[in-house]
Amino acid sequence: MADRRVTVLAGGVGGARFLQGLIEVVDPSAVTIVGNVGDDLEPYGLHVSPDLDTVLYTLTGRIDAEKGWGVRGDTPRALEQARALGAEAWFWLGDLDLGLHMARTEMLRAGLPLSAATARLAAAMGLRATLLPSTDDRLRTMITTPAGEVDFQTYYVRRQHADAVLGIRFDGAEAARPAPGVLEAIAAADVVVIAPSNPFISIDPILAVPGIRAAVEARRDDVVAVSPIVAGKALRGPAAAMLQTLGHETSAVGVAGLYRSLAGALLIDREDAAAAGRVEALGLRPRVTGTIMADADAKRALAVAALAAAGAGS
Ligand code: GDP
Ligand code: CA
Repeated sequence: MADRRVTVLAGGVGGARFLQGLIEVVDPSAVTIVGNVGDDLEPYGLHVSPDLDTVLYTLTGRIDAEKGWGVRGDTPRALEQARALGAEAWFWLGDLDLGLHMARTEMLRAGLPLSAATARLAAAMGLRATLLPSTDDRLRTMITTPAGEVDFQTYYVRRQHADAVLGIRFDGAEAARPAPGVLEAIAAADVVVIAPSNPFISIDPILAVPGIRAAVEARRDDVVAVSPIVAGKALRGPAAAMLQTLGHETSAVGVAGLYRSLAGALLIDREDAAAAGRVEALGLRPRVTGTIMADADAKRALAVAALAAAGAGS
């Protein structure tokens, strides 16, 4: 198992926590992460890729584990100064975090594609796994609320995901191309994992890049998804609320419905063991296991369970 090549579609916090366990049970150099860029934004003229950064910080030991994002021990001095001088500055960025965005922005301005800038940052930070953005092209998640359409961070951070989500659109997706290496990593992997990330705003924007959904579907038998919904609730964030307002069952069965063309197996929590039959009826192999990543042991065990669930024969 140690040298199996694993490709993981991941958002931010849930995806990164899963990856933390995975790189302890397989050689990190055999792991490729396809990350979400739908949350990207350009506050203060800097290019911020929140989900790629959460993966980078988590896997290189810098993460603020309590919050799940940002750098441990970071300070908001720059932000406070900006606010004191009259800026609204509603998007929180720590001082150390700002440094990363400055480095990324400089690379992009010099003409590097996001994938190359990400690779440079990852190497400088000591990441041993391969981190790829889904695309180098501009793709932005847009959220339809009762008050109209807003960009993702206005919905998520500024309005604290309080609005009902009536629709989701990925601006730029039609013209986007998969970043170099993405389709190859999906095709060549022994196992493809859909991390316990938000299906609508972390996984869907990755799949919206033309070619990626078909590449995952072509590997369906070897694709394992992990439910981010446990006992009808999201462990954090708006995934459960979105299932409801977008017309799906608010449960692991709802997640199975979303992933039925993509994944051959779905890991569901022990609390949802009774749903296994309905997951199976949707055509996915249900695997009942502990899916709550409370500590390092739980993260490793979840990674082992995901790898074991791959392959139609297992
Ligand atoms: P974001 O981009 O930071 O919002 O992060 P993700 O989309 O990667 O992860 C958010 C999702 O992770 C939420 O839907 C959570 O329910 C899920 N999640 C967080 N922690 C856990 C956990 O310990 N177990 C499982 N199964 N899901 C989790
Ligand atoms: Ca995110």
